[in-house]
Amino acid sequence: MTPLPSKIVCVGKNFHAHAAELGSSVPSEPLIFLKPPSSIIASGEPIVIPNGVGRVDYEGEIAVRIGTKARHVSEAEAWSVIEGVLPLNDVTARDLQRQDDQWSRAKGFDTFCPIGSVSTVSPHDFPDVTLITRVNGEERQRAKASEMVFSIPSLISYITRIMTLEPGDIVSPGTPEGVGSLSPGDEVEVELEGLDTLRNPVEEEGDVGS
Ligand code: MG
Repeated sequence: MTPLPSKIVCVGKNFHAHAAELGSSVPSEPLIFLKPPSSIIASGEPIVIPNGVGRVDYEGEIAVRIGTKARHVSEAEAWSVIEGVLPLNDVTARDLQRQDDQWSRAKGFDTFCPIGSVSTVSPHDFPDVTLITRVNGEERQRAKASEMVFSIPSLISYITRIMTLEPGDIVSPGTPEGVGSLSPGDEVEVELEGLDTLRNPVEEEGDVGS
């Protein structure tokens, strides 16, 4: 596996229908949060549902990996700092997310960031990249990159006005509608159609030291 990124920058509520299904609306500026690099797992590794956290959801996302150190990048320059696209599952402890004002706990458990392989896509073709999420082979989410409220270039520009993006960092622009819960024994797939499929089994935590 490639070295861990210095950070994973995620965007909340960036598809209208998903914000609505959470009983919310799209914010006027991008809503960003961080997932810790320690949450990353590869395709094939298990998502572990922690004990006592309640509902845990999949969120299929069309993420991008940064190829060039980036600070104060304009929208017009944004594609020049992107290495490629990858499927990402922003696994979320939904009950804890509702309980907490900040989402570090709900989004930050170990194994809560499965990521796939990076594919090169031209800026011209990117809007047609199609995300499909399946649980046990049944389709749950389907959306095109063009349906994002804030586009990838606008997000890169916005984020790099706040923080430097380093090579290897991941930006994940939010999930479309159709989120749902995961149970031990499930298998969840996040596919970027024609590019890569991320596939992870789901396990319960079992006994751990206190
Ligand atoms: Mg998300």
